[in-house]
Amino acid sequence: MTELLTNVRLATMTRARPYGLVDDAALAFEGETIVFAGPRAQAPSADRTLDLGGRLVTPGLIDAHTHLIYGGNRAQEWEQRLLGVSYAEIAYNGGGILATVRATRAAGYERLVQSAHARLATLCSHGVTTVEIKSGYGLDVETEIRMLRIARDLGPRLPVDVRATFLGAHAIPPEFRADPDGYVGTVCDAMLPHIASEKLADAVDAFCETIAFSPAQIERVFTRAAQLGLRVKLHADQLSDGGGAELAARFGALSADHLEFASAAGVEALARAGTVAVVLPGAFYFLREQQPPPVAALRAAGVPVAIATDCNPGTSPLVSPLLALNFACTLLGFSPEEALRGMTCEAARALDLHHDRGTLEPGKLADLAVWDVEHPAELAYALGANPCHATYKRGRRTDAAESRK
Ligand SMILES: [Zn+2]
Repeated sequence: MTELLTNVRLATMTRARPYGLVDDAALAFEGETIVFAGPRAQAPSADRTLDLGGRLVTPGLIDAHTHLIYGGNRAQEWEQRLLGVSYAEIAYNGGGILATVRATRAAGYERLVQSAHARLATLCSHGVTTVEIKSGYGLDVETEIRMLRIARDLGPRLPVDVRATFLGAHAIPPEFRADPDGYVGTVCDAMLPHIASEKLADAVDAFCETIAFSPAQIERVFTRAAQLGLRVKLHADQLSDGGGAELAARFGALSADHLEFASAAGVEALARAGTVAVVLPGAFYFLREQQPPPVAALRAAGVPVAIATDCNPGTSPLVSPLLALNFACTLLGFSPEEALRGMTCEAARALDLHHDRGTLEPGKLADLAVWDVEHPAELAYALGANPCHATYKRGRRTDAAESRK
């Protein structure tokens, strides 16, 4: 059966600038696959036609970096920080990432599913049809595997595809404080083989930073991941230049994420390796960072740049993809078109899914977002608005008003 959406403006996000825009357009799909996207006058005949009243249609948004499965939240820690308590003091009193690890370990499967489901449903109601979700708040074999199973479990419950990423090397757990290399051994020898054999993750991530893991430790994790046939990505150069971008490039990483302190050599290495830079403006905003990622250098070097929410309890409690686009423009110097590309075609590339999604073209999945706006720049422009009218996930429609209930 062919369905035709007509009387639309398409932002196809193909190479044609700006936005791959087609006015007075139509889009047709058969089953879950787009068969036509172009001028209304050239549209094929269809079994069913829906007039969308001139609305804008974009590819379904792709959020390529989230940590949305976690126990508890860190609102009170944030409140304390605003009242002047130092991060060191908070960490000393058991706060920070290890507070989330404790809460996540203590939460049962169903409680974690419920809270993550609510956050993911919010993303979906804002036009997201593909999301990446990381583990990394378990830091023991049992809880890391539980988080990945939940990630796998969430996709079928909502109109969204989930890519699961194993982030065992996120922080050093308290029981290994005196033996970080021992924990890296657990990640490589106990967690990774199990996760690979049960196909619980699509990729492996790590946090390269003075407060987390050294490049040498991450090389061990990445080498093991490569042996097991898993692609890698990296939290790189967020708080200092630790050579993270170069390390990611050396391992042919899908993406290097954050990159505030990435050097010129790091940017060049990403360009040569074809690694996507994932910029996370929510964390930049929430932490009130002073050093922006080298957007102009990435642009000049031709590095594809994706934008994601980084939804997490400590540094970016952000469930609005459109606000992430706005932050990218107002704080980091992206154009609204670059920002939208960052959450569609470039985000698809960051997840190695660009063969079947991220643009509106025949052959791609009918993953669509329908918006109550006239021009795509409005998506990044309005603060706190949600103009999402409906989404189509693999050709199946969900009304945004329905998903907000
Ligand atoms: Zn992250």
